[in-house]
Order: sequence, then structure tokens, then C-alpha cells
Amino acid sequence: MVISIANQKGGVGKTTTAVNLSASIAVSERKTLVIDMDSQCNTSSGYGISHSNTGSNIYHVLIGEKSIQEVVRPTAIPYLDIIPSHPDLIGAEIELLDTPDREFALKRAVEQLGDTYQYIFIDCPPSLGLLTINSLAASDQVIIPLQCEYFALEGLAMLLRTISIIQKKLNPGLEVLGILLTMFDRRNNLSFRVWEEVTKCFNDTVFQTVIPRNVKLSESPSHGKPALLYDISSRGAESYLRLASEILEKRSEA
Ligand code: ATP
Ligand code: MG
Repeated sequence: MVISIANQKGGVGKTTTAVNLSASIAVSERKTLVIDMDSQCNTSSGYGISHSNTGSNIYHVLIGEKSIQEVVRPTAIPYLDIIPSHPDLIGAEIELLDTPDREFALKRAVEQLGDTYQYIFIDCPPSLGLLTINSLAASDQVIIPLQCEYFALEGLAMLLRTISIIQKKLNPGLEVLGILLTMFDRRNNLSFRVWEEVTKCFNDTVFQTVIPRNVKLSESPSHGKPALLYDISSRGAESYLRLASEILEKRSEA
């Protein structure tokens, strides 16, 4: 199962979700891989891999210099591997333009992994460019994080339109696994209003699990760890564990 975490809007919790959901699925003993497809490398640094020491990374795979197996690395969490990114990835969008079937570079690579992993999560960049298109073309499902704030729904129509174009042209099997509300602040009335509006529009597509605004989630990346290794009892860590159970249940696997 390959799951992209996508929203072209910046700062909505894509990376926080990629890091913490991959960790939470892995602790339930499903062999898991997280792929960082963003040249900002935030998922890589969230797992303690710094830009300067990235070595082989997803960029080399996309431009055909390395096989995907060569760039996979273990993490501190059993059952969880990572493919890091690199700032050079920004150039891949241009370099891929010359490649035949440029939308499928990631899909071709991921297929090489066969059934090594039960879950593969892909952290997308905040754009609808070729890297996000590659991620969606390689995915079975997509999770859309939405920040509980005033402009939450801004851009969502465009993202849904992009997903439907990809379904038509590149990947008929792509499904929206769910919309995830992030940074929910129960002291703020606006959070409740966003939750209400989004559930009214999208019903069952919205995950029941809502991710609270929690300082441990924003602190843990600077320690190079997901929240469950940084503070397992935090509300942030707990909410991503709950999201993992909801996803496993949704796929009738729990
Ligand atoms: P980008 O579009 O730049 O890739 P993103 O969608 O990946 O951003 P994140 O990097 O996950 O978003 O989150 C943006 C900021 O908000 C980060 O500083 C992160 O630590 C913080 N943040 C995300 N989720 C939460 C949360 N639930 N509670 C507190 N802080 C959060
Ligand atoms: Mg990010």
C-alpha cells in the first residue's frame, strides 16, 4: 500500500504526518518505508538525517543514477526504513522533463521494491509540480492534511481537481484515503468551525482522528525523532497512534 501525503498548501502538517504516521504504523509491526519527496528535506531531518550527510537519496533514484534499494536506510525504529531527500531534488523537476514517462519515475522505482513493505508513505512538497505528480502516480491512496485555520479549504478544490486528472490520465486506482484535520486547538472556536465545515462537505472522507496542536510534535523534529520516541505520552504522539489504528481498521487489518 503506497500512500502519499499531499497538499500544495504549505505548512499544513504533511511532514509532521509523514514522520509520525510512518512511525506509528511501524510500531504496530508493519514493515514500513517513508520516502521524502520534498527538497526541504524535513522528513529526513525529522529522522535525524542532515542535508550535509545525506549521501544517496531519492534524487539519485529519480534521475536513474541509483537503484531504489541502494538508497533505503534503516531508522531507529524497527520495521521502519527511510529514503531521504536532498536540496538537489529541486533540480529533478527540470531534469525529468527530458525523460520519457517522466510522471512515472517514482512509480517505476517503487515497483522494484516488490512486496518488501506493507506500507510506503510519501511526503510531498507544497506544490502540484512533477514531484507531487510522481508521488500521486505511484500511490494507491492519498491523505490530505488540512490545518484547522481560516483558509483551510483554500486550494482544496484545486488539489481534488488535480487528483481527478491524475485518476483519469495516470493512475485510475488512486483513492483519497482521508482528509486529516491538523493543529486543532480546542481553545479556539475557529478550530471547531473548520471541523464542522469540513465534515459537512466531506463526511466519511474525514478521518475521525483529529491531530491537536501539540508542542511535542513541533519540538521532536529538532531532536531527529518522531514524537513517540521523544515523548510517547504526549497528546501529539497519542493522536498519531490513534490515526494509525484508524487506518489499519479502515483497511480491516487491526
Ligand atoms: P511544507 O508545506 O513546508 O512542507 P508541511 O505541510 O509539511 O509544510 P509541517 O512541516 O508538518 O507542514 O508543519 C508546519 C509547522 O507546523 C512545523 O513547524 C511543525 O512542527 C508545526 N506543526 C505541524 N503539526 C503540528 C501540530 N499538530 N502541533 C504543533 N505544531 C505542529
Ligand atoms: Mg513538509
